[in-house]
Amino acid sequence: MKSNEGSDDVTDDYLDARGIPTSVCPRCGCDWLMAPIRLHPDTYTIAMWGTKGFCYSCKAKLTIGTPPDAIDEWSERMESEGETDDD
Ligand SMILES: [Zn+2]
Repeated sequence: MKSNEGSDDVTDDYLDARGIPTSVCPRCGCDWLMAPIRLHPDTYTIAMWGTKGFCYSCKAKLTIGTPPDAIDEWSERMESEGETDDD
């Protein structure tokens, strides 16, 4: 008789770090993230990417960051470069 008591259920082995947008894996530090992408049909550059992804290295589930998630970092960069809004 074979019983499935969950002893070889490995689905919980992967960290679930979804909910906090990130650019690196919080588990292993890998910055290669797997995400669904859309390419621009003419240039084949990345036009969009999905936020539901996972770490390429350890397979942890992640929420992939987008530029608005890094708004603080960007505003700091803008200030240090002395850019102004004088249109
Ligand atoms: Zn990882």
